[in-house]
Amino acid sequence: MQLRLNDLLEQISAYAPDADLDVVMRAYFYAAKAHKDQSRKSGEAYFTHPLAVAGLLVEQRMDIDTVATALLHDVLEDCLVGQDELEETFSQVIAELVDGVTKISKLQFRSKQEAAAENFRKMMLAMSKDIRVILVKLADRLHNMRTLGSMPDYKKRRIAQETLDIYAPLASRVGIEAWKIELEDLCLQHLKPEIFAEVSQAMEDTKEEREAYVAEITGLLDRELQRRGVKAEAIYGRCKHVMSIYRKMESQHSEFDQLHDLLAFRVIVADVTACYATLGNVHALFRPLPDRIKDYIAMPKSNGYQSLHTTVFGPQGRRFEVQIRTRDMHDIAERGVAAHWQYKEGHLALSREQLNEVTHLRAVFESAREMEDPDEFMEAVKLDLFHNEVFVFTPGGDVKEFPRGATALDFAYAIHSEVGNTCVGAKVNGKMVKLEHQLRTGETVEVLRRKDQRPRRDWLNIARTSRALGRIRRYLRQEEIDTGVRLGREMLEGELKKHGSSLGDLNKAGRLKRACKAHGFRDVEGLFVSLTQGHTALAALVRELLPEVEWTTSDEEREASTFQKLINRIRKRSASPVLISGQEDLLVQFAKCCNPLPGEPVGGFVTRGRGISVHRRGCPQLLALEPERRIPVEWDARGQGAQHTGGIRVVCVDRPGLLANITKTCTDAGINISAANVQVVEDDKAECDLEIGVTDVDELQGLIRRLEKIRGVISVNRVAR
Ligand code: MN
Repeated sequence: MQLRLNDLLEQISAYAPDADLDVVMRAYFYAAKAHKDQSRKSGEAYFTHPLAVAGLLVEQRMDIDTVATALLHDVLEDCLVGQDELEETFSQVIAELVDGVTKISKLQFRSKQEAAAENFRKMMLAMSKDIRVILVKLADRLHNMRTLGSMPDYKKRRIAQETLDIYAPLASRVGIEAWKIELEDLCLQHLKPEIFAEVSQAMEDTKEEREAYVAEITGLLDRELQRRGVKAEAIYGRCKHVMSIYRKMESQHSEFDQLHDLLAFRVIVADVTACYATLGNVHALFRPLPDRIKDYIAMPKSNGYQSLHTTVFGPQGRRFEVQIRTRDMHDIAERGVAAHWQYKEGHLALSREQLNEVTHLRAVFESAREMEDPDEFMEAVKLDLFHNEVFVFTPGGDVKEFPRGATALDFAYAIHSEVGNTCVGAKVNGKMVKLEHQLRTGETVEVLRRKDQRPRRDWLNIARTSRALGRIRRYLRQEEIDTGVRLGREMLEGELKKHGSSLGDLNKAGRLKRACKAHGFRDVEGLFVSLTQGHTALAALVRELLPEVEWTTSDEEREASTFQKLINRIRKRSASPVLISGQEDLLVQFAKCCNPLPGEPVGGFVTRGRGISVHRRGCPQLLALEPERRIPVEWDARGQGAQHTGGIRVVCVDRPGLLANITKTCTDAGINISAANVQVVEDDKAECDLEIGVTDVDELQGLIRRLEKIRGVISVNRVAR
């Protein structure tokens, strides 16, 4: 049975008398021409496929743009047609819809995991900015499943499995019940042909008897409801579909003839009150099964489905389900999302009630509820459902979900914390990217690792997920503790050695343990770390540990000499300077006197107990300090990007509006002012001290140059905080 253009147009005008059929006609001829030399595997002309897909969408009474998209859905992929040409010939909406279908058609689902299938479905929804893309894709798949016959067996099975994993649940999710049922049965037919044949045969054998029973029950329900004052608009009875019967057989480990509840009845009534009245009356007629009463009117399913369900014992001890709903609920139950593209009196229209009733796409409807203009609704219904999530593939085809803004580094940590810890970059769709790369839906990501890679402090600015941040912090904390323990142990051991003692001796004597307790540490590691932080004074501790020693020198001298050793050791270990990252940590602090910034020459000074203090190289404070405690330091290129505080003093004429001009220049440069102090000095001049956040010295100097250009500014200089 071949659809013709006239059939399509006739059907559309039946539900949309005012629709612009010209668009459909043009799409028809355009696609027919584009596909004219192609044929399907079956030998039929290729164009029969898009035509049939369009037919399926017309059956769902979809709008003109969707029908045109269905006709055109394969032209971008198969023919030499570009998106701009479609936009010129048709419209931006149609071009975007066709492009959307083409894009999701390229996604291939390869994973065997259940959870991955769910993520894959979400990814498809996320990639389809407009839900109509999904509807066209589902119709496309349904027609392909119907005409699978001419494919080789292995291909049939692969397509059927993918359909079962992805498209049938998607049809259910968007609420088009008939498509879901047909897709599932077609899948079973190709995946388990014997079972499909067996169940179908059994259904055929019992058909006559079942139809008689259905007639009996619908008649009974109709009479009894009417007698009790409820008017049923329609009552249908039907048998469950093959896949659902097969699932019941599996879950109950039974044969076909052992199954009880294969029948379902639908009662359509005028309003919600009548729904509940009908439920009461059904229960008065037939005894309900406990626990099988479901109120999807009060609590709709996520796809917007609403109904009352109950399973009852009918005549001959047979059980069946009764579904009770209004006409509008029925329409949504049958057509789901498609029900929203309803034409009323020839116009695409959505009533306020319909919007309120529907909880599918709840998030979208939250904002769409107040809208009455269909165009505005279309805009809103563009699937922004997953705008906070991105979905990407692993090289194995699994799909992982991330919050928007997540990076390649987050991806690495999502695989395994060890993968994250040793991650140096990634390949996205085969191209090398940095750790900072922001993931985008549909990308395939492969982590690149190096054995000697370690997490760094600036990774905390790259990671977005709490999982990755937690793992990085944990690693850094442990690293700090390890370093502290090592240094503290060395310090104490060295000092003890001078007095002919050792940690081992003290440990044996139990003195170390006692000292820990006295200072409030749970273990000796805590004590070591505390020594390097300067919280526990080394000299005092040694005196405590070695009470038998006669002490002559002062505590201070003793500590100084210990630190001298530390410095010497750092120097001996390597001739190269100590690399410092852009951020402070246990061993590195930035001197407050000169606010050193990344990118400028710096020098280090080993403090008593507070690690290395970093100064600008020319800082008078640094020069005044003991030369033997100075050590060379250099900025580590890796530490870039962290915020530092810098100070500048702007001298300007005291004129109204000038300060505003200065602060505006800062904000225009993307620089945050954390403190400002202005005072008027002699000769009508003002001095303006600003404390600003910058990442490096270049940024600061750039700002100074911009400020100098302001009219009325006399000088701009860097100052210490
Ligand atoms: Mn197709």
